Amino acid sequence: MTDCIFCKIVDQEIPSYKVYEDDKVYAFLDITQVTKGHTLLVPKEHVTDIFEYEPTLAGEVFARVPKVARAIEKAFPEMQGLNIINNNKELAYQSVFHSHIHLIPRYGKSDDFSIHFGNNQAMYSSEEMQEIAKKIKRQVEK
Ligand code: 5GP
Ligand code: ZN
Repeated sequence: MTDCIFCKIVDQEIPSYKVYEDDKVYAFLDITQVTKGHTLLVPKEHVTDIFEYEPTLAGEVFARVPKVARAIEKAFPEMQGLNIINNNKELAYQSVFHSHIHLIPRYGKSDDFSIHFGNNQAMYSSEEMQEIAKKIKRQVEK
């Protein structure tokens, strides 16, 4: 895609701190380094977001996540954890519209990173939970 910053990074038109590359994916340091070693893994092929993936490419990209995760862990043995995040669409904090997976190593509670999972269990009856599950189940592609 001509006007995509990550396509330009993949094509070496814009410099990046490369971590890993093969025929399907490219991994490089996120410029903001939320924590040391914060890495982005992207498909070389332009895919806007998770909704656009063909199953084969999805498999190829997601299969590389543990490979890069283990490399970060070995590079920084002081790492205590790793958040893997994939934002899709603007409301969900996607700001670059070439799909990418964030690997954010965690070193301690004072990391410049936070994530909040609310607990709204009390808002749903078991019937409502059944209904929600059914609605999604009906739409799962065969
Ligand atoms: P998103 O907000 O879409 O989930 O993540 C996009 C990420 O891309 C951000 O964390 C941002 O720091 C990173 N980013 C944006 N432009 C560049 C760039 O030119 N080079 C690198 N290495 N990272 C970038
Ligand atoms: Zn792109």
